[in-house]
Amino acid sequence: MILTLWDSFVDRECKLFSENIDKKPVIFATNLKVTSFLGLKLSTKFRSTFMNSLFVAVQKWVEWKDTSLDKVDEFILKKPYTKKSATKLSPPMHNKFILIQILQDRLLPRKFYWVNATAKMEKIYQKCWYMTCSSCYQRSSVDFGEIYVCIFCKSSNSKAITRARAYVQLSDVTRCINASAISEAAEKFMFTDAQILMEETNFGSQADFVDIIGKMQNIERTFYLKATQAKPNSSNYKF
Ligand SMILES: [Zn+2]
Repeated sequence: MILTLWDSFVDRECKLFSENIDKKPVIFATNLKVTSFLGLKLSTKFRSTFMNSLFVAVQKWVEWKDTSLDKVDEFILKKPYTKKSATKLSPPMHNKFILIQILQDRLLPRKFYWVNATAKMEKIYQKCWYMTCSSCYQRSSVDFGEIYVCIFCKSSNSKAITRARAYVQLSDVTRCINASAISEAAEKFMFTDAQILMEETNFGSQADFVDIIGKMQNIERTFYLKATQAKPNSSNYKF
């Protein structure tokens, strides 16, 4: 499960946890906020408290953890917190979809939007995958399959894996916008997966997308878009 720490918890607890993350610290906390969007997540609130590891209840979990490291590693590898992705969400009622023209013309009140559109890839040559850490998905420069120490999540058991990425144009009857997709969403776009993309390009940096573009053309699909302001208070958005 993902835990997000805010405000003063960033300087104290977050620092402590990240410095000790390879020891798999036991975290005991009260008054956390629980949200269920795209899987269960925890985050701190103003009144959250983290309990000292000297408490008996915490000690018991520390003992369990020390004798069950295999099990803990198994949980981490399974990444249960990533199971529910946007691509597995059910689309909403028809009237909840939005036209691309509206997405472009307004300061958007929300982050996520449903759109019916066709996808096109205008840039025929683009790098469609990159290497990431298997634990935190931060970019990595080591070779595929190599085990290494990740400088982002500090895991000493990170494996370099491929992640798909695509830059596309989405259009509906009103207009066209640029959008980028990574991971599972990009794989669905291109009807393939990251490892195949990497192997097909012979580990090189660019792929010839003629086949992929042919497959994508003229199919109307449902997209779940995240809108991010290009700059603070700007009316330009990235999707
Ligand atoms: Zn990492």
